[in-house]
Amino acid sequence: MKKLFLLFCFICFSFNSSLANEVKNLSADEALKILKEGNLRFQNMKEKHPDQTKERRKELQNMQHPFAVVITCSDSRVPPSLIFDQGLGDIFEIRNAGNVLDNHVIGSVEYAVVHLGVKLVIVMGHENCGAVTATLNDVHESKFISSLINSIEPALKMYDENSNEDKLTSTVKNNALYVANNLIKSDKILNDYIKNKGLKILPAYYHLDSGKVEFLK
Ligand SMILES: [Zn+2]
Repeated sequence: MKKLFLLFCFICFSFNSSLANEVKNLSADEALKILKEGNLRFQNMKEKHPDQTKERRKELQNMQHPFAVVITCSDSRVPPSLIFDQGLGDIFEIRNAGNVLDNHVIGSVEYAVVHLGVKLVIVMGHENCGAVTATLNDVHESKFISSLINSIEPALKMYDENSNEDKLTSTVKNNALYVANNLIKSDKILNDYIKNKGLKILPAYYHLDSGKVEFLK
């Protein structure tokens, strides 16, 4: 009986290890391909809803190996795992209003990259973002809202009057670009992972109506 139990443990461990390796070995490009395919399914209402079984919950009980980080807005219309048609343990989500950067966000990305082996980070703004709209309207109703607005203001200053896009859309996109660039600049460890270990950080924009994620680089 004891031998049988040990064999069972060995099989479980091997299975979990192979799953972990399989995901850990995903390059940034492979991870991006999975996200793009999932988003296409979402746009066309042909979702597979992967990794949402009881077995998946069991697999993840003592470990996680997500293959992508998505930094995005807290907006209820922008849930990354639904938009990319992924499931439990697939996407490491970091969210706040306006997808702004602070030490907590940087630390969270660093954890996912260094300790969970993620090679792809997406910074995703979205259509009609309330936090960016508040920045355009210069809303400073409390020190906490001001903190968000102040973080988005640099993107507002990037607006080009000759742009074909309206100021809100342009600022949301510039904010995603600004956050992606600053994430790279702010963290030496992430910088090293980009130069030497295949990490990619990409800005993106989510269209609320079509469900499409537009990659900005
Ligand atoms: Zn938003």
